[in-house]
Amino acid sequence: MADHLTIFALSSGRPPAAIAVVRISGPHARVALERLTGRLPQPRLATLVKVHHPATGEAIDEALALWFPGPHSETGEDTAELQLHGGHAVIAGVFDALGTIEGCRIAEPGEFTRRAFDNGRLDLTAVEGLADLIAAETPAQRRQAFRQLKGLIGDRAEAWRRRLIEALALVEARIDFSDEADVPEDLIGPALYAARQLRDEIAAALADGGRGERLREGLVVAIAGPPNAGKSTLLNRFARREAAIVSPHAGTTRDVIEVHLDLGGYPVTLLDTAGIRESDEPVEQEGVRRARERAAAADLVLWVTDLSAAGGATVAVPKALEGCSAVWLVENKIDLAVEKPCGRQKEPLTSNEHKFMFFVSATKGQGVDKLVAAVTTYAKESFSGAEAGIVTRARHRAAFDDTMAALARALAEGERAGGREELIAEELRAAATTLGRLVGRVDVEDILDVIFRDFCIGK
Ligand code: GDP
Repeated sequence: MADHLTIFALSSGRPPAAIAVVRISGPHARVALERLTGRLPQPRLATLVKVHHPATGEAIDEALALWFPGPHSETGEDTAELQLHGGHAVIAGVFDALGTIEGCRIAEPGEFTRRAFDNGRLDLTAVEGLADLIAAETPAQRRQAFRQLKGLIGDRAEAWRRRLIEALALVEARIDFSDEADVPEDLIGPALYAARQLRDEIAAALADGGRGERLREGLVVAIAGPPNAGKSTLLNRFARREAAIVSPHAGTTRDVIEVHLDLGGYPVTLLDTAGIRESDEPVEQEGVRRARERAAAADLVLWVTDLSAAGGATVAVPKALEGCSAVWLVENKIDLAVEKPCGRQKEPLTSNEHKFMFFVSATKGQGVDKLVAAVTTYAKESFSGAEAGIVTRARHRAAFDDTMAALARALAEGERAGGREELIAEELRAAATTLGRLVGRVDVEDILDVIFRDFCIGK
């Protein structure tokens, strides 16, 4: 990855398609463009060109060419883009042509972005935001990813890091130049004051209930219950497509089926778990084990039972699911129960139970809209305020936790009678390093820069 060759790749989707975008980045991008098209377009101006094979002179295609001279390009390097007709043979021909140019090779996965990062065009959190934007499935996810790409977390972390470095510079100045007459006595007090403020601001950013991470990953709703209760049928109702196999034979859904849904703009991952029941059959046992594991980790469990099943006896929610944040009871097959009334439906329910109990017919659709609406509301409530949050990954949270811990140690040392300035400096430096790591830049030079900029020691 670390060579200085020029890279090229198909940046658009799978061919055949109307258009194929081939990107070229690196020191030979200009030569490559000139050799293939016979000209160098004006920077950033789409230009109609003929693409020829440099070895044979054969015309391959007519294309739009774009030329982005570095460093003000996506990757920070000289970059060229060809918008070709999106056929397999066109792309193969252009790749073959580019392969004949010295210093050019096919890019590895993520290599354009890697170069953008290496050249300081994107910080690590923006790189993550870009990945999330490409993966986003709902409007809320898209908005969160776009804001991260545009620096919502990176800029905040960078601003915090700068303030930390300024606080550190005060402490370092106190240590290094304490003999000098023109260095004020109390530099530690303002440094600790700044550290306290930073600690409070980071703590506030962390106190978001994990909504940013959940929005990124989607709210997980597990459909669980005994075999044949109608879980797969219900999932299909939700998904409105044939995502799970619906079968009249018990124990056919042996694995966990996932369906990604957009409910009211929010991402919900619906899991259809294998019928939870005891079995001697090894494959099914494994399915049951996985089902239990996934269901136990879900944000919401819909416990589906067959209202028409023998005797109408309630199938108790298994112990393993009791730890879930929410378990709703879904009584299925009310269509059968209506024809052949069973005792349970007539049992009086308190209003409180009603809130978590739904009567549906997965095949006929009765009651399903109400259940979908309730899950949508649940998702909306779980995500409320998520978009204002800045933490979207465990990596961010871990970095901020480390920063907080280092700040706490710096403050404890500062508040301790006889606390040592060197130790305060060390912890502030550690705190700044964790933030530097978050955005992917750890640079000690800027600490020195700040010292010499802010304190005109004059020597
Ligand atoms: P799972 O094992 O819990 O996933 O159950 P399935 O979704 O495979 O359904 C088992 C059987 O029950 C199938 O024959 C379905 O057609 C039937 N079934 C599911 N829901 C209903 C319902 O609401 N009413 C009736 N009458 N049959 C249903």
